[in-house]
Amino acid sequence: TLTAGVVAVQGDVSEHGDAIRRAAANHGRDAEVVEIRKSGIVPECDVLLLPGGESTAISRLLARQGIDDEIERHVKTEKPVLATCAGLIVASRDARDERVETLDLVDATVDRNAFGRQKDSFEAPLDVAGLDEPFPAVFIRAPLIAEVGRDVEVLASWDEKPVAIRDGPVVGTSFHPELTSDSRIHDLAFFAEAEA
Ligand code: GLN
Repeated sequence: TLTAGVVAVQGDVSEHGDAIRRAAANHGRDAEVVEIRKSGIVPECDVLLLPGGESTAISRLLARQGIDDEIERHVKTEKPVLATCAGLIVASRDARDERVETLDLVDATVDRNAFGRQKDSFEAPLDVAGLDEPFPAVFIRAPLIAEVGRDVEVLASWDEKPVAIRDGPVVGTSFHPELTSDSRIHDLAFFAEAEA
């Protein structure tokens, strides 16, 4: 059984739980989903999910609960993380916003709300490296990935800007793969090595 921790201080938590269960089932695995609201749980987890929501709130609560250091340790031991939208903002090196205490899990600089306000949310078919068919990507007040470091692999771009990246064990997306029934991004983040 795969223990999947969903950071649950704020944001779209239950959707990620469903998505990782579906992805695990596709690979003949069981996933036990645990919600992370306090310290002490991350060290038990095989994989972590950092959901969308409001990055200022998420980063503040992670620091207050002492979960931030645990997530950094998880990544240092090369265990996988999928960070989506606000989760990617929190996981970035720099969010160009003092209110967000970033975790520096991926070597990327992001701009919050760069695609515009809520009304500018949209869904689009997206070509993603490693996927045969386009992925239905849901963007909701999505961050834009402004700069990536040399070791970062760009998995997908929209309008010539990266919107899905991989840096070692961490996959980050500007969009919300947990909001569709398509679990291929969760597959890429957590089960790609098993395939290879
Ligand atoms: N705009 C939000 C933020 O900056 C992220 C939006 C989302 O996660 N859907 O935190």
